[in-house]
Amino acid sequence: MAAMQDAIREEMNEIPEAAPDRPVVRYRDIRKSFGDFEVLKGLDLDVKQGEKITIIGPSGSGKTTIIRMLMTLEEPTSGVIEVDGEPLWHQEVKGELVPAGEKHLRKVRGKIGMVFQQYNLFPHMTILKNVTEAPVHVLGMSKKEAKEKALAMLEKVGLKDHVHKYPIQLSGGQQQRVAIARALVMEPKVMLFDEVTSALDPELVGEVLGVIKDIAHTTNMTMILVTHEMDFAREISDRVVFIDKGKIVEQGRPEQVLENPKTERLNSFLRRFR
Ligand code: ADP
Repeated sequence: MAAMQDAIREEMNEIPEAAPDRPVVRYRDIRKSFGDFEVLKGLDLDVKQGEKITIIGPSGSGKTTIIRMLMTLEEPTSGVIEVDGEPLWHQEVKGELVPAGEKHLRKVRGKIGMVFQQYNLFPHMTILKNVTEAPVHVLGMSKKEAKEKALAMLEKVGLKDHVHKYPIQLSGGQQQRVAIARALVMEPKVMLFDEVTSALDPELVGEVLGVIKDIAHTTNMTMILVTHEMDFAREISDRVVFIDKGKIVEQGRPEQVLENPKTERLNSFLRRFR
């Protein structure tokens, strides 16, 4: 009987798997507090396969926390996050959701790639080694295959001629492009970009945004970005989400959200960029 129930459950789990419009990322009633301070106050957000969404909002409004929870770097205080139909911070045991074990977290985390503000490359490894390290040691890919993939990714981000250099020999913009290649080589289902140009000198911002734009326009990868670059957000996003004080205040097509804000809160936020 139990085996049959498991089989039915397994089969039921597969139905959403096949549904084309099922969101690849889903946040349901997410609350997150740090001590007494509630950063997120009941966040609901669905992101569809292939969708590119940009999260904008004032500093401290909870944007990074949204992304870090998906990367399993922060645990929500309550609510459910699903990736690809599977709960992230929970796992189903005998039909009940219980806190996820490390194995489950690792499995779901494998579907997510992230590029941070600080690129944190391994300083003692060449660029090529920086990019092949995780596919070989985390995914168990052969060295030959990892090298082929890494070279293809490094070419995509315009660094073909620098693969045998060390991070210190590259500019900040080039290092950030290595970090992008390093995340892409893992072929994640969802890529997260958290203010990836904030730490760069202004003249290096364009080359990094250009690479991300290229990825957005040429792949079907689901992307969630946090940025203060409004022109970039307009060009790249299927949807812009404005968050303030831990809640989504407005969301929609970039031209609608960025050019015709409905609320005074968004209007006054956008005025800072005009
Ligand atoms: P944003 O990305 O919109 O600037 P964050 O998500 O980084 O906002 O942070 C939202 C709020 O949560 C900020 O006030 C920040 O200080 C606080 N916060 C974030 N992470 C932590 C943490 N690990 N411990 C305590 N407070 C935190």
